[in-house]
Amino acid sequence: MITKHSGPQPADFADVRATNLAVVLRHLRLNAPCSRADIAAGTGLNKATVSSLVTDLIERRLVREVGMTENRIGRPATMLVLDGSPYAAIGLEVNADYLTAVALDLAGERLLSWRRSFTGTTSSPGQAIASLAALAKRAVGKMAREQRRVLGLTVGVPGLVDPDGVVSLAPNIGWEGVDLRKSLLSALNDPAYPLLVDNDANLAVMAEQRFGGHGVANLVALTGGAGIGAGIVADNRLLRGARGFAGEFGHLPLVADGPACACGRRGCLEALAGLGAIIKQALPDAEGTEFGPHVDEIHRLAKAADQRVLQALSVTGQHLGHAISLVANLLNPSVVTLGGYFTVLAPWLIPDASRELVARSVAADAGGTRIVASALDVSAAAAGGASRVLDAIDEGVLPTP
Ligand SMILES: [Zn+2]
Repeated sequence: MITKHSGPQPADFADVRATNLAVVLRHLRLNAPCSRADIAAGTGLNKATVSSLVTDLIERRLVREVGMTENRIGRPATMLVLDGSPYAAIGLEVNADYLTAVALDLAGERLLSWRRSFTGTTSSPGQAIASLAALAKRAVGKMAREQRRVLGLTVGVPGLVDPDGVVSLAPNIGWEGVDLRKSLLSALNDPAYPLLVDNDANLAVMAEQRFGGHGVANLVALTGGAGIGAGIVADNRLLRGARGFAGEFGHLPLVADGPACACGRRGCLEALAGLGAIIKQALPDAEGTEFGPHVDEIHRLAKAADQRVLQALSVTGQHLGHAISLVANLLNPSVVTLGGYFTVLAPWLIPDASRELVARSVAADAGGTRIVASALDVSAAAAGGASRVLDAIDEGVLPTP
């Protein structure tokens, strides 16, 4: 679980109660099914308080009872689980060549997972916002037909996003100074649920932390598309930096006077190892701006041991390993995940990337850093967007009954 608060906690009664409700929810998320007595023992709250909190959570339909079980001393106890049914959390992602949507219930079960082709490189921000709004309306509409209340919606963008939801720069989709949050609020007629905008890699690492099964406190998630972003969790905290712009992994300058990058500089990692560069090396005659079919073809040729494709993936792996070694030397993560389109190509990227990482890391064996394929691939950022909504609930921002 990513924690975001470390300062002094507010002490008035309403806040203490909200904090305790969140404590019970988090305990259930990790340990359900459990009894009221289990919750008291696990959280240190007294049994009367737990009973009152559980009653409140049942009224809000965040928790439900699932029958009796024998406890250790033989008395039957009513077991509790998170109640997913009345709610939905939605995440969207806009990228250079696709839009995705994921909805989760409160317990984190996937309710929908959609992907649409999209021409991000040639669309104006206005066209992109209209497409995102249309996708959001379809997802919200589907949840409404299932009698679910939307708890929040988060949109992931491949670029620099400030805390107000303004995208100050997203070179691979040609955005600069786009107030995405305000535009979407207006396109969606000022919805009752909270709407947030975040960097795609930040959301991807939240999804890896919650659903990826890595079980580690230090994790870096790399997006793999036209750009290569990094979401960084250090000591269980998402690392955002002073203005929220941390993690611009794709613009690490690796080669002096290297190929031109969308950011206007030369020799950045993503100019060397982004999808555009991979396709150019592996399929020099490829046409069309949609990556998906080209990645499928590269995957097919790699399995058939096509020498040009294997060479292109080997070189890409080396560039990735070089860049990951910089992060490994700085942050010593346990795991670095290859997400997006890198996921399917990971078997051919990881051997060279790992060799390069070990060779360039100061610590023996790269300080234990392992490079692995994401289990979430292209849906990671959208799943992270929905996950961010659930994080707010887990921190005590509860829906009213
Ligand atoms: Zn760059």
